[in-house]
Amino acid sequence: MKFNAPRGTNDILPPDTLKWQYIEKKTHEIFSNYNYQEIRTPIFEYTELFQRGIGEVTDIVEKEMYTFEDKGGRSITLRPEGTASVIRSFLENKIYGQAQPTKYYYIGPMFRYERPQSGRFRQFHQLGVEAIASNDPALDAEIISLGMRLLQDFGLNDLELHLNSVGCGECRPTYVDKLKKYLNENKEQLCDNCKSRIDRNPLRVLDCKNDSCQSVIKDAPKITDNLCESCADHFNDVQEYLDILNLDYIINPLLVRGLDYYTNTAFEIKDNALGAQDTVFGGGRYNGLAEEIGSRDLPGIGFALGIERLLLSLEAKDIELPVESGVDLYITVIGEQAKKESFKLLDQLRNKGFITEIDYLGRSVGSQMKSADRMNAEYTIIIGENELNNNSATIRNMKSGDEKEIQLSNLLEEMKQLVDKEDI
Ligand SMILES: [Zn+2]
Ligand SMILES: [Zn+2]
Repeated sequence: MKFNAPRGTNDILPPDTLKWQYIEKKTHEIFSNYNYQEIRTPIFEYTELFQRGIGEVTDIVEKEMYTFEDKGGRSITLRPEGTASVIRSFLENKIYGQAQPTKYYYIGPMFRYERPQSGRFRQFHQLGVEAIASNDPALDAEIISLGMRLLQDFGLNDLELHLNSVGCGECRPTYVDKLKKYLNENKEQLCDNCKSRIDRNPLRVLDCKNDSCQSVIKDAPKITDNLCESCADHFNDVQEYLDILNLDYIINPLLVRGLDYYTNTAFEIKDNALGAQDTVFGGGRYNGLAEEIGSRDLPGIGFALGIERLLLSLEAKDIELPVESGVDLYITVIGEQAKKESFKLLDQLRNKGFITEIDYLGRSVGSQMKSADRMNAEYTIIIGENELNNNSATIRNMKSGDEKEIQLSNLLEEMKQLVDKEDI
């Protein structure tokens, strides 16, 4: 019997896990810096939450959810995204009773039954933020700048910010009617897919990459010309706050989202240097979402970023995250007595924060030295009967080859001198 991980999943192995840890650590740092706090919601929820919170007529809900009945006969779904759970939690725990806005972030696995391809998995990972209970355009600018800051800190500097407003429940229906009318007038030039979208979800036509559709889309009415006064003001203010932060943006009226609960700000951050322009991640306002799942009027804005996708972007640009692996000291032992004494030293060194390793396979000195090399040991020391008797051993810098004779009883002090440890 031979087991494989399920299709669309993968093991994240060392040393790659170091990159993941680095990304997570940076995320905690930067998000905390903007005063966002971490929230951890369950990996699974009642199916209805996602049906209502993502929308029945979406690919996610129609085709991609991992849904099953639990032993109590309830329909359960592995979370395909993070926002619905965060809003559910905000309402359920009555966080609205506290000082607002509430600023949360999350990091964790999500699940979608998609066709596995490069960078796309059935269990994938997202980090995201949600700022809830304020419609302040400054918060939109904050969220956008937070996303940009995160990518820049990982070394992605050639970014392009695309910005739009998708209006609100007042102004969008009028716009959608106009768009429908226009698309119907030009129906013959649209691809079959788009023809069928005109009635179901005309905004999605604006996404179509088909050449013939593009020529129609080019002259289609634009949402930005059809915003109500309050949406237009909000959009202007978002831009003003982005200007204050010196963030460049491109107004892109084709950047729309199909679902009704999305309102006002929509944005995407694209990586410019990758030839074919690539969206790294996007986000936006969802002032109508809470009403879908909790009958409460509650503004919110957020974004989510796929970690696998981020790693691909970094890889494509040959960006190495500054992760280090390796041990500070590898203790090479000769004989059983030396092993026991060294085991004590090992423990003392580890207690003081030194990454220390020893042989567990009873190998020859040569093999132990090879191990030390493979582990990227910064220093090695050989301890045998002679060294124990003389309380003296040679510590060797593996990079420079420099050697130093030290007193064994003084090893801890010597290591403090040799290895630059911030926390020691
Ligand atoms: Zn409006
Ligand atoms: Zn089309």
